[in-house]
Amino acid sequence: MRRKNKILIILLALSLILTSCGARTYSETVFALDTFVSFTLYEEIPPEVKSLIYSYEKMFSRTDEKSELYRLNLEDKANVSEELYSLIEESLKISEDTMGAFDIRIGEITALWDFKSDHPMPPSDEEIKKALSLSRGEIKLLEGTYIESASDIDLGGVAKGYIAEKAVAYLRSLGIESGLISLGGNIASFGKKPDGEERKIGIRDPMSASDTVGYIKLTDGFVSVSGDYERFFLYDGKKYHHIIDPSTGMPAEGNISSVAVISKDGVLADALSTALFVLGYDSSIELYEKGIYDFEAVFIFKDGTVKATDGAEFYRD
Ligand code: AMP
Ligand code: MG
Repeated sequence: MRRKNKILIILLALSLILTSCGARTYSETVFALDTFVSFTLYEEIPPEVKSLIYSYEKMFSRTDEKSELYRLNLEDKANVSEELYSLIEESLKISEDTMGAFDIRIGEITALWDFKSDHPMPPSDEEIKKALSLSRGEIKLLEGTYIESASDIDLGGVAKGYIAEKAVAYLRSLGIESGLISLGGNIASFGKKPDGEERKIGIRDPMSASDTVGYIKLTDGFVSVSGDYERFFLYDGKKYHHIIDPSTGMPAEGNISSVAVISKDGVLADALSTALFVLGYDSSIELYEKGIYDFEAVFIFKDGTVKATDGAEFYRD
């Protein structure tokens, strides 16, 4: 909690600096969806866009007892909102296309991993085995907006991308033509900066929170980053992070430290960043070359190597 306050103060100070630079930039940060959500616009930030974020939190949170998803997970079958229905539907499709590397049925597994505890430790093999068997249930999309799910659903890998998309659409509907929204690792950019320049989105160095390895040029679109540094703990000298390999129930292993996915589609960027991390580089490139999804990606390996797909406008610092 104290750390959260400190970060908020730093972010507030940063927004003041931004507003005082003469570029008439307005910045604001709120804590929602278990992360920092910040807006940067060139006019006052409409308060409704913050309410919009909170209302989606009440729809997609796995842990908030008042959320719609919580109710579905509790009751196993429920009539849900069209938005929850369609996000689950889209997630199932991505799951199929990524050979299960992306899988929203992992709710019982993610519930075992507490990254916020003062003394976090990995779950036991027994717990993982049980949660794994519970994560293989079928999700049925029924008539109307009924959903039946034999597994607990976790939308943590895709909801922020969806919300980023909706927030951009909302701001645009108000006639706001340019801005940047950041939801913990998911960046939405729309419109050129007032000086006509393209926006540059820095890609963090997984080894150091204050360094970047390069940047992506982006005007209209989304960049989602999944990294092993976002939520993790060390136990007995081993790192346990929050991106789960659905086939093992354990943090995905491999030689990648983070993946950034760039796309015009926020949901796709978010879901694929998680999926590509699990798939690893070779299988990710196979998916890229299949061409079923329109995206670009930047991979940062544990040894510091960086590889970007041909269309990613990635530039080294
Ligand atoms: P991201 O930071 O977008 O990669 O999302 C990570 C979050 O997505 C985790 O905190 C989990 O809630 C969820 N998640 C982890 N692994 C997976 C996976 N393989 N498929 C779908 N969701 C996942
Ligand atoms: Mg994701």
